Amino acid sequence: MLIDSHAHLDSPRYAEDREALLRRAWEAGVRAVLSIGIGDGPETMHQALEIAREFKDRPEIPTIFASTGIHPHEAQLADEKAYEKLDQLLQQPEVIACGEIGLDYFYDHSPRDIQKAAFRRQMEIAAGRKRPIIIHCRPSDGSTNAWDDTLQILEEAWKPTGLGGVLHCFTGEWDHARRALDAGFLISFAGNITFPKAQPIRDAAAQVPLDGILVETDAPFLAPVPNRGKRNEPAFVREVAAKLAEVRGISPELAASRTSENFRRFFGTGPQPERPAD
Ligand SMILES: [Zn+2]
Ligand SMILES: [Zn+2]
Repeated sequence: MLIDSHAHLDSPRYAEDREALLRRAWEAGVRAVLSIGIGDGPETMHQALEIAREFKDRPEIPTIFASTGIHPHEAQLADEKAYEKLDQLLQQPEVIACGEIGLDYFYDHSPRDIQKAAFRRQMEIAAGRKRPIIIHCRPSDGSTNAWDDTLQILEEAWKPTGLGGVLHCFTGEWDHARRALDAGFLISFAGNITFPKAQPIRDAAAQVPLDGILVETDAPFLAPVPNRGKRNEPAFVREVAAKLAEVRGISPELAASRTSENFRRFFGTGPQPERPAD
């Protein structure tokens, strides 16, 4: 069994075949997907929840959970109305996390001080609703600037809540992972773990304790080899788990079951492992 801990199921790129790709995910062994609710800004951050509800209790479709949050790219769209909406969404039972939130100094679509303010405000709202947070962090090219700021903010403002979270699409160094683990975070690896030039990501994946790891697709982005460059989808989380297994010298089945177990333990919900048929 596999769990895709991060996919943008509300992407318009799935408008034509969302149900078919969820069925393909099921066929690939995916039993749950965390549907990330950032939309293309606060106006559409409820769409992930709608998808979770639309596909609830359907046979041969993975269980879909939702998150909700304002991505650092759209931080400058965060106004009181957006924060109110965030707070409302976080009270829904299907919405198990706040995110993805954080800092992106690679694109700098929103000014950095505004990104930091939106990040902190969303942490306060998530803490009020007792939801863990999903972190997006991308530094400037050749720098660790966004990691330094993100980890400092997490250690100071989030660690004391004890709620923890997930560092999604991890691309940092072991020391960043270690500090996040100490603050109660899981480290989630994405399709870029399969890219030939991504040895530093594989090195980190070899070092993080196995009970601190999740796998994700970040679909529709970042499709793993051999589908690199194409539209990504949750079924391809299999390639991510297979690469993780290779890096750690364990079987793909063990990588799949342990990362699924980590998801269930951390979020306190998720599909149970299937017993073999008689
Ligand atoms: Zn992200
Ligand atoms: Zn994402």
